Amino acid sequence: MKLNSRIKPTQVDVVVVGAGFSGMYMLHRLRQLGLSVQVLEAGSDVGGTWYWNRYPGARCDVPSMEYSYSFSEELQQEWNWSEIMAAQPEILQYANHVAQRFDLRSDIQFDTQVASAIFAEDSKRWEVGTQTGDHYSARFCIMATGCLSVPNTPTIAGAEDFAGPIYHTGNWPKEGVDFSGLSVGIIGTGSSGIQSIPVIAEQAKHLTVFQRTPNYTMPAHNGPLSEDFQMEAKKNYAEIRDEQRASQVGIIGYGFGFGGAENVEPTDEILATTQAQRTALVEEEGFVAIRRFADVSIDPEANELACDMYRQQIKRVINDDATAESLMPRDYPMGCKRPVIDTDYYATFNRDNVTLVDLRKGGIEHIQANGVKTGQGDFAFDVLVYATGFDAMTGALGKIDIRGRNNTALTEHWDAGPRTYLGLQASGFPNLFTITGPGSPSVLSNMIVSIEQHVDWIGDCIAYMDKSELLTIEPTLDAEDKWIAHVNEVAEGTMFTAASCNSWYLGANIPGKPRIFMPYVGGVGTYRETCDRVAANDYEGFVLSAS
Ligand code: FAD
Ligand code: NAP
Repeated sequence: MKLNSRIKPTQVDVVVVGAGFSGMYMLHRLRQLGLSVQVLEAGSDVGGTWYWNRYPGARCDVPSMEYSYSFSEELQQEWNWSEIMAAQPEILQYANHVAQRFDLRSDIQFDTQVASAIFAEDSKRWEVGTQTGDHYSARFCIMATGCLSVPNTPTIAGAEDFAGPIYHTGNWPKEGVDFSGLSVGIIGTGSSGIQSIPVIAEQAKHLTVFQRTPNYTMPAHNGPLSEDFQMEAKKNYAEIRDEQRASQVGIIGYGFGFGGAENVEPTDEILATTQAQRTALVEEEGFVAIRRFADVSIDPEANELACDMYRQQIKRVINDDATAESLMPRDYPMGCKRPVIDTDYYATFNRDNVTLVDLRKGGIEHIQANGVKTGQGDFAFDVLVYATGFDAMTGALGKIDIRGRNNTALTEHWDAGPRTYLGLQASGFPNLFTITGPGSPSVLSNMIVSIEQHVDWIGDCIAYMDKSELLTIEPTLDAEDKWIAHVNEVAEGTMFTAASCNSWYLGANIPGKPRIFMPYVGGVGTYRETCDRVAANDYEGFVLSAS
């Protein structure tokens, strides 16, 4: 999109794109520095992920006490969570509370899709254009556009012929959907599918689940949070937050462990067990027995033994043998995809009103007026739900025409996959920052911890530049090359990059996307230390310029 040169741009210090948890805190932090800020948000209100993903069953899988902002002591003391892991409506309420409390909405323009961001070499400013024709000019442009904010709707022939409504979990109607008395078809068994399937099955007359790849999922053990527990946790918040920041993934599982289950330290070796011992463990503890083994995440042979335990447990909990067989993941390691936790997922397939269609036995051929035609027959339903995920990490950035020095497009610079220094900036794009960008721990972490770390780092950087009367900051190509090499090196040999792994971390869910492992697996604590050291060493790897 071309900027209309006749319209005088609104001048601000910083344009922030997106008003999810990243954009909201970025705005607050920049205001504290006395800067003028304009946030531009495509949605009609704050919350990002939690504004768009209103599907039944949507919830967080990080304990609420930890999936929350830490930047304000008053905020973390005054807010009360009702469950160990909060559901979408409560997280959205929290986002609204934060917006209200810090008067954020007055600097956010809603219903505004940013179409272009172009660096003007002469003025050293970012010229930002919106789909509605607004034009902003800013010294800094901060992309808080989200890693999971562009829904992926696969192209399936005949979709336009479907007679009923079609929904996507990532863009759910605000008013909700009543499935009572209706037959529903759902495509996808990732986190969104696994969360929504049990809830839709309870309401709908019939649910048909189209599964291309069975997933590994662990029981969530969610439940109410007692007032006593919260009071105690709030007393310990300073230590909890310190531990989160220094940890591998930004979660310490305070009081619960990951996914609400009791904290189990993985200390045992599965390779040292016998088949009989593993069977006994499955019978005693179910899926969670696998968590005790440390070698599962690093050794393919150990991983396959764990997968076998997992399949044994599926056989135990699913009544029908053919359905159990269909639900068994095979041919890719546990831990290569984003972990999933669930409430009553497998039990749902024992219900009379649920049909599982294993697409490995015959894929979707096309959608027709009354349902789906597959290689194994026709399936009819009234409503279709896509739980088919997102164009992750680079999707939202790729939709904006971002141009840096020499009019180079970011998509061109990232032709072979995203390239950044620290996930914060790309070379040739001065004063453009990405919050939780590719090359940072981002989606491999409790994202609020990573968001706060990036926002604080960017805020400190801008404050430093202003104090030192510097105009631009950008990474050297060499620093970017070395960082990307490091990101690849630490991911090498992990389950994440196994040849049989087709995850969205690798871009494998989007046809034509380069296969490259996008987030940084080195850990939240280590990464924070690296970023702090870079800043302390006069922003080593970056070029800062006063002219
Ligand atoms: P987002 O919340 O995605 O916000 C980005 C905003 O930018 C959006 O509102 C979008 O409309 C806007 N935007 C994008 N492009 C443009 C544009 N061109 N113009 C204007 N506006 C634009 N993380 C966890 O850590 N734990 C969890 O349990 C967890 N659960 C999740 C569950 C779901 C269903 C999903 C989809 C994600 C989940 N995540 C979870 C990840 C979640 O995205 C982050 O935790 C966090 O909410 C991201 O905040 P953000 O502000 O960076 O991005
Ligand atoms: P996802 O993990 O990418 O899953 C998408 C599903 O759709 C997969 O089962 C995929 O099958 C299937 N699919 C895609 N295209 C298809 C097609 N053409 N035909 C048939 N099946 C198709 O997406 P998601 O479930 O929305 O989750 C994305 C991420 O959002 C998560 O990994 C997580 O980070 C976040 N999230 C978190 C939570 C939470 O619990 N906190 C909840 C929801 C989302 P294949 O595997 O075969 O490709």
